[in-house]
Formats: sequence, structure tokens, C-alpha cells
Amino acid sequence: METLRERIKRLLIETEFPLSVDEIAFSLGLDPKDKNIIYEHLKHIAKTIRRESRGELMLYMIPPKCRNCGYIFKSLNKPKKPSKCPKCYSQRIDAPKFIIERV
Ligand SMILES: [Zn+2]
Repeated sequence: METLRERIKRLLIETEFPLSVDEIAFSLGLDPKDKNIIYEHLKHIAKTIRRESRGELMLYMIPPKCRNCGYIFKSLNKPKKPSKCPKCYSQRIDAPKFIIERV
């Protein structure tokens, strides 16, 4: 049996387009309420995938973006969806998206 982390990893390797955590939850048949669990796994995958794949694979994050003013959250040090924009304080934020690709 694959663990949840392995299933997330395989999904992100096989996908053609970067996926949001909502899309990951949907694809794996998880409860959308389990978002934080998925973000935790992504955090761990980001740290370990390179070593595990002997430098071949990386987890890429398309950063979250403010839908109101277009601000891009470039400096996030861990995968998450920010709650509001530091520029215009809008809460309409596009969630980050993830994909695993060759380095
Ligand atoms: Zn904004």
C-alpha cells in the first residue's frame, strides 16, 4: 500500500499541469478539509524529493497570487495559501499550485 505522501508524490509527477491543494484532494478522493495535511506533506516532499531522487526531481510551487491587485507571493518559505494580500488586503487569493519535475 502506498502512503498518502507517496500518492501525492506520484500524482504530482504524473500530472501535466501544476495542481492546487484542492485539486490534489479531489484527485486522491480526500476530504477538502484535509488541506492542511496535504500542505504538511508538500512541505516534507519539498525538502526530501531532491535527495530521494538523487538530484533528479524537484517540487515546484507556482506562488499564490492576489486576484484583486495581482500581487505575487514570491517569498514564501513553505507551501501554503496566505489569508490576505499585504498590498491591498484583499482575501481573494489564488492558491499556490504544485508539480514535480526533472531538475
Ligand atoms: Zn492584492
